Order: sequence, then C-alpha cells, then structure tokens
Amino acid sequence: MTHDLLIVGAGIHGAACAQAAVASGYSVIVLEQYEQAGMVTSSKSSKLIHGGLRYLESGQFKLVKQCLDERRYLLRNAPWLVKLVPFYIPVYKHTRRRPWLIHLGLVIYSLLSRKGFSRLDRSHWSQLDGLKTEGLEAVFKYYDGQTNDTLLTRAVMKSAQQLGAELITHATFRSAQCHQQGCTVQFEHEQQLITLDARVIINTSGPWVNHVLKRIQPETPALDIELVLGTHIIVPIKLEQGIYYLETEDGRAVFIMPWGDNSLVGTTETAYGGDPKNISPPDADIDYLLRAYNQYFGRALGRGDVIKAFAGCRVLPADQQSAFHRARDTIIYHDNSSNPRVFTLYGGKLTAHRHTAEQVIKIIRPCLPSRRPVADTRKLKLPA
Ligand SMILES: Cc1cc2nc3c(=O)[nH]c(=O)nc-3n(C[C@H](O)[C@H](O)[C@H](O)COP(=O)(O)OP(=O)(O)OC[C@H]3O[C@@H](n4cnc5c(N)ncnc54)[C@H](O)[C@@H]3O)c2cc1C
Repeated sequence: MTHDLLIVGAGIHGAACAQAAVASGYSVIVLEQYEQAGMVTSSKSSKLIHGGLRYLESGQFKLVKQCLDERRYLLRNAPWLVKLVPFYIPVYKHTRRRPWLIHLGLVIYSLLSRKGFSRLDRSHWSQLDGLKTEGLEAVFKYYDGQTNDTLLTRAVMKSAQQLGAELITHATFRSAQCHQQGCTVQFEHEQQLITLDARVIINTSGPWVNHVLKRIQPETPALDIELVLGTHIIVPIKLEQGIYYLETEDGRAVFIMPWGDNSLVGTTETAYGGDPKNISPPDADIDYLLRAYNQYFGRALGRGDVIKAFAGCRVLPADQQSAFHRARDTIIYHDNSSNPRVFTLYGGKLTAHRHTAEQVIKIIRPCLPSRRPVADTRKLKLPA
C-alpha cells in the first residue's frame, strides 16, 4: 500500500500536518522516534497561545493577526486546554519601551484581537503579586492565551488519529529514496528496519530537520539554519493575578507565569551548536532568568529555589540579527527541481500550528490524487 503522506516527527507541526491532511481526505502515517508525541520543542515552549505583542514592533502584523485568529479558534475548540489570562506590563523609569509605545502597541493588538486593554490605576499596584513599585510609572493589562503545550500537541495528534492517521512511536526515520512519483522510506522500529511507500514526505523533525534531509536521496542542500536555545525555570512563587511581561537588562522580554502552584520564568535565546538529543538548560541562562525575576519582585530567589529548568531549541534561518529580533514565521522548504516529493517545515509558532499545516496541505495538494475532505480543522473540537 502507498500512503499519501509520511510525516517525520510528532511535534506540534507533525501532529497538525497529520490532522490537516486526514481532514482533507489523505492517508497519513506519522513516525515519532520517542515514546509519545510532543516530547521535544513542543513541550519546552513558553506555553502561550498569543499573537505576540512584541512582534508588532518589528512589523510582523500578518503573523500577529494570523496567531490571534488561531487563538480564537483554539479558545473555541479546546476550552479545556487554552485559557485567556490577564497579562501585566509594568513600565518603570528605566524601561526602554515608554508608556506611549506600549499604549500604541496595545491599541493595535486589541483591534486585531477584538479584546480590550486597560491602564491600571495606581491604587491596584499593591495587589500585583509583590511587583516592585519603586520607579513604577504605569502598568498595562491585556489578555492573551495560556496552554499546556504537551497536552495540546497530543490532543491535535489524537484528533488526527480519530480521523484515521496512523502514529508509530519508537519509530526513527532512517532513509528515503525518492523519484518523480513518490518515496520509498525506511524506518527503525523495535530493532527492525521497516520499508514503506509514500507519495510525499513531510519533514517536521524540529531541530533534526537537516539530519533528516541528509538521509533523503536525491540529496538536497542543507538548510542554512541556526538552533537557538530557550530556557525556562520553575520557581516556588504562586502568582495570583496573571502573567507578567517584563523587560530584561538587555532589552529583551521575559514572562513570569503561573504554573500550577509555582511560576514559570522564561525564556532566553542562546545559540546552540550541539546534538539536539543533548539539549539542556545552561547555567548562565538560569542565572539570567533569576536576575530578571529578582529585578522586579520583592522576594529574591537564588539557585536553590529553582525547582526545575528545561530548554528547547527554536529552528531559525541563519542571520546576523539577534535571535530576539528575528522573524518567527514558519518556513516551508521545497526544492522542486531536485526533490519534488519532500517538504520541510521549520520555525514557526505553537499558536499558528493549524494555519501552518493548512498552508502545507495547500502546497502539496498538486502532488497528490484528489480526495474528498472529511472535516474542517477550524471547527474540529480537540479531544481530551
Ligand atoms: C523556548 C521556546 C519557547 C517558545 N514559546 C512559544 C510560545 O509561547 N508560543 C508559541 O506559539 N510558540 C512558542 N515557541 C515555538 C514553538 O514551540 C515551536 O515552533 C514548535 O514547538 C516547534 O514544533 P515542531 O513540531 O516543529 O518541532 P518539535 O516539537 O521539536 O518536534 C519534532 C519531532 O520530530 C521528532 N523526530 C526528529 N527526528 C526524527 C526521526 N529521525 N524519526 C522520527 N522522529 C523524529 C522529534 O522526536 C520530535 O518529536 C517556542 C519555542 C521555544 C524553543
């Protein structure tokens, strides 16, 4: 039997491509090297379902609008997984982004999201979870989404499986030989080498995208990408009010978010040149996040307070610009001349997974036989 699509990797993008493909009527098989979906980058994110207020500053209006539309679908289709949460942006005397700029950004953001914002009255500042008030000039409040990224990825994967996609875990993609009509793929599963045929391969292997591409014949040039590591720490602070969006010592932004009875602080952007299997949070990143917390909150935290630290890697196009300022669009790479049957997807946002996957399906449609769609992903409720 020849499958329409073989997807390498069950992170959020592999799961979403599987969901969009089966919804369009295609037969799909997904290979995941680990025991479950969503064990790599898609469980190490900041867990925000957001347009990304800060992307307005770099003119990424289209991305922000797309993500805010996706936020709306997710709030409707997975209310048990995605919640709107208040976000607070304090502006101090030393903050680089002045109140007028934040105000302007929030006006645009609220037009795009159809959800308002406010500037808190001074009398409310003392209720903000111990936020320092010395030098504080203004606090803005708006709303954005928070999720559990691991559960979201598994819910999207489960939705795809319910529509007929097959997920094989402990299955490592090893090689593929492609021709004009399709590919013969080999993967390792329970110490056996298994061969199957697919009309199209979608490479959603996250930090391994180049490793997978290298194993596909005819070979296409390696992607000019960089892995940028982002660390989060969990600290024993219970936040009552919501998420704090803070400017760091180097002008970046970090979030301090409620996470169960604790708080999650993140993230960083540190170039990573190692093996994706060995990604771990660097000490310097942990210290940076502790400093960010301590700069703004009354109770000073030290290394001993860190309950857990974890890290994941963004896959970004190589560029001279700092990672913080680089575009967060998803990139769909396809070399039609040397390998018309292989599509590679990298970068992007957890929030935009459904839209991204629909784009991928639109691009590969001419390579596949015509099929009858069975569902609209904008309306699919995600299973618990
Ligand atoms: C620190 C950080 C914070 C972020 N915060 C946010 C946020 O708050 N909101 C947001 O919208 N986005 C956020 N993002 C972006 C988002 O998390 C990522 O874009 C997304 O998770 C990438 O998913 P993916 O499916 O492409 O990759 P991954 O989740 O890495 O999945 C790739 C999968 O491929 C599998 N695989 C690899 N090689 C093989 C092989 N040979 N055979 C079989 N399987 C293989 C891996 O095991 C893995 O499961 C953040 C990213 C980072 C790094």
